[in-house]
Amino acid sequence: MYKKKTTPQASSTVEKKKSKKSPIPQLIRGMKDTLPEDQPWWEATRDQVRAFANAYSFERIDTPILESTNLFERGVGHDTDIVQKEMYSFVDQGGEHITVRPEATASVIRAYIEHGMRNKPQPVKLYYYGPMCRHERPQFGRYRQFYQCGFESLGDQHPVLDAEMILIGHRLLKTLGIAATVQINSIGDEVCRPAYQTVLKNFFKKNRKTLCESCKRRLHKNPLRILDCKEVKCQEVAQEAPQIVDHLCDACRAHFVGTLEHLDELEILYELNPRLVRGLDYYTRTAFEYWYQHENFGDKVSLGGGGRYDKLAETLGGRHTPGVGLALGIERIVLLMRELKNYPIIGFHPDVFIAQLGEQARKKALRLFEDLRASGIKVRQFFARDGLGVQLGIASRLGAKFTLILGQKEILDQTVLVRDMETGSQEVVAYEKIVWDVQKRLK
Ligand code: AMP
Repeated sequence: MYKKKTTPQASSTVEKKKSKKSPIPQLIRGMKDTLPEDQPWWEATRDQVRAFANAYSFERIDTPILESTNLFERGVGHDTDIVQKEMYSFVDQGGEHITVRPEATASVIRAYIEHGMRNKPQPVKLYYYGPMCRHERPQFGRYRQFYQCGFESLGDQHPVLDAEMILIGHRLLKTLGIAATVQINSIGDEVCRPAYQTVLKNFFKKNRKTLCESCKRRLHKNPLRILDCKEVKCQEVAQEAPQIVDHLCDACRAHFVGTLEHLDELEILYELNPRLVRGLDYYTRTAFEYWYQHENFGDKVSLGGGGRYDKLAETLGGRHTPGVGLALGIERIVLLMRELKNYPIIGFHPDVFIAQLGEQARKKALRLFEDLRASGIKVRQFFARDGLGVQLGIASRLGAKFTLILGQKEILDQTVLVRDMETGSQEVVAYEKIVWDVQKRLK
């Protein structure tokens, strides 16, 4: 036998390479894999999102995960935590400033403007389901890549659309077995908010010493965000702060009252929360979140939220386009569904399982599988297993109605043994008639 000659030097290099084996690459911090056993829960969320979108006439939109950094700086707001600290941004090979999207509303509005959707009947109702990235500190229920589903209603400012949005998120969570409370506030608009911000600034200036370092900075740039700071000392000060509802202009007050009246009509319970401001600059008027009490999250966890963003399109350079939207975080929903043992209904119960014994049978079984599948019959197999007992066990775990058994004898006789999985009775059927026979049994 030919043996490749290696010089002593070459072989020692090989040794070195072996001993210095680089470690197996690991998942990076804040990321996670969604394994096959997790998928039924994810599938359930996808199914419900699709079902709700269909029921409420939202059409699917998919935007890229990479966008120009400018989109988020202008849309989400230059001074927000997301833009200041959390974006995965880079300059690509062509010198363009690119960001992996931290949220999708700005992208959806960009697409609305870019594709001239204002020429369609308004409101244009769109939904999405996809990954977002934010460089946050990972913790329970917080990742650096996470999925959101979102609904956006664009081109109309009627408060009934705000109420519809709140309803959709609330009912979607309920359908997935999660009873969350609706927190709601109005944060005014460009007419009334500046005056309120001055009132707020003056109030917090008097309490400056008590505030945390971040809030001292927020005092100048974004005093509204002090209201939802998580630091206990800031929260205590914020308790006493003037409330925006007392400073809304007539139009914003009418809009807020209108939204609440629609929610009352829908019998959706909500909590008025004067400190709910949300972390993105684009919101005007309605702001809402869905909260769930949960000890592992510290206290209350936000499962999602949204609000109205009537100025966002103009901020991006488009024409005036009022809009309202909502985003739900899928990881947190799945975590809760699992904890609450809201087992998703796994949609696929096969009509038929094919069990085979021996090489000859395996060949024929694959062909039989194809014939059944092509005829629209839900069929499963586990051709890598041989024993009949094992295969019947799998068939019954999957909930198959019938198992088609192909052994040596059946191959010789050109037949198939049809086993009724409920009664255990078995019948011999001619191979060429099997598709027709199964179809008849399934009727
Ligand atoms: P936001 O876009 O910040 O309003 O977030 C809406 C929802 O997305 C939140 O209520 C969470 O459920 C989810 N979410 C936001 N950030 C994260 C994250 N880093 N990890 C997991 N879920 C998140």
